[in-house]
Amino acid sequence: MTHDLLIRNVALPDGRVGCDVLIGDGRIVEVAPSLAATAARTLDGGGLLLAPPFVDAHFHMDSVLTYGMPRVNRSGTLLEGIALWGELKPTLAQDAIVERALAYCDWAVAKGLLAIRSHVDVCDPRLLAVRALLQVREQVKPYLDLQLVAFPQDGVLRSPAALDNLKRALDLGVDVVGGIPHFERTMAEGAASVRLLCELAAERGLRVDMHCDETDDPSSRHVETLAFEAQRLKLHGRVTGSHLTSMHSMDNAYAAKLIALMVDAGLSAVANPLINITLQGRYDSYPKRRGMTRVPELQAAGVPVAFGHDCVMDPWYALGSADMLEVAAMGLHVGQLTSAVQMRGCFDAVTSVPARILGLDGYGLAPGCRADCVLLQARTPIEAIRLRAQRLAVIRAGRVIARTPNATARLEMPGRPTQVDFTH
Ligand SMILES: [Zn+2]
Repeated sequence: MTHDLLIRNVALPDGRVGCDVLIGDGRIVEVAPSLAATAARTLDGGGLLLAPPFVDAHFHMDSVLTYGMPRVNRSGTLLEGIALWGELKPTLAQDAIVERALAYCDWAVAKGLLAIRSHVDVCDPRLLAVRALLQVREQVKPYLDLQLVAFPQDGVLRSPAALDNLKRALDLGVDVVGGIPHFERTMAEGAASVRLLCELAAERGLRVDMHCDETDDPSSRHVETLAFEAQRLKLHGRVTGSHLTSMHSMDNAYAAKLIALMVDAGLSAVANPLINITLQGRYDSYPKRRGMTRVPELQAAGVPVAFGHDCVMDPWYALGSADMLEVAAMGLHVGQLTSAVQMRGCFDAVTSVPARILGLDGYGLAPGCRADCVLLQARTPIEAIRLRAQRLAVIRAGRVIARTPNATARLEMPGRPTQVDFTH
């Protein structure tokens, strides 16, 4: 029997080397050294790393590539970003949102990022961004899984009609219930919003992913309520707290109790290192807090922690290129995750962990999984992070959909090799 694709001689993220990967009907058929099989197409892996695709558990595709519209964020704070987005919203057009989102999805595919959970602002009564991203979700389906979160950016209780709009967005097919309790008017309303939104998710059988406690204020403790509601409503494994930056500034004794509650409730966490290392600590003089949530402590307790990109060229962040290895590298540095096991974990935080948080079906490189994978110009996951390795080939359902040439430098020095690549 002839299969679709045979990838020869690759290393795998679990440490196996010299493996062949056989693909047929869009699925992984077999993974073993020196397979005696034939396929319509063969790809030489050259001993390099073949990984499942990158997954971004936290993104904002409705604001992507709007940097400078209508002006830039001068203070660099979350709050000015929200105000700026509020100025921009009335001027948005559906076609332009679609066009920018599709341009970003092209970048994502080229970087081997084939699944994204994007929050979409539901506070605009026209639901313009929602309609745009639902259109994009359908359009990109053959090559990228886009999951949408109904996100009440201006506060589900603070903004009139936000709850109604959020329900309409879910009726239209948005996948996940979002929230932003730290932006509601009071702590009490923040807690009420968490309760209300978790109940809505439980009623509709949906997952929850809230922007939660994205502040340096240690008294912002909405994640405690999120854990409580997840447990009360039996949403174990279906609730994610995004950002959770107030945990950085909490008292250790309280944080220890809180992390145990999060474990009991089956909560997941998403840290967004590129964004929070720039947004947090803006009200500090010196020392300036880093602001990222307690990643190693959460991981040690067994909470699944993913790293998200969050923003690319928008009111909150001027940089970014859909490169989840850049995200992993920043998370590694900010969290001081420098042991070999921790660095390896940073690769998981942009691949297998977010795949689990999104509930992706058939993710991975085991036989039977969807044949989605990325050939990287690196030999190990740690080397991939170190080099922000080139994505030599991106494969979706057994078909190569993007290629990038090897990164090599040419030396022109007598007595030295002419070609240098940075793998080791
Ligand atoms: Zn966000």
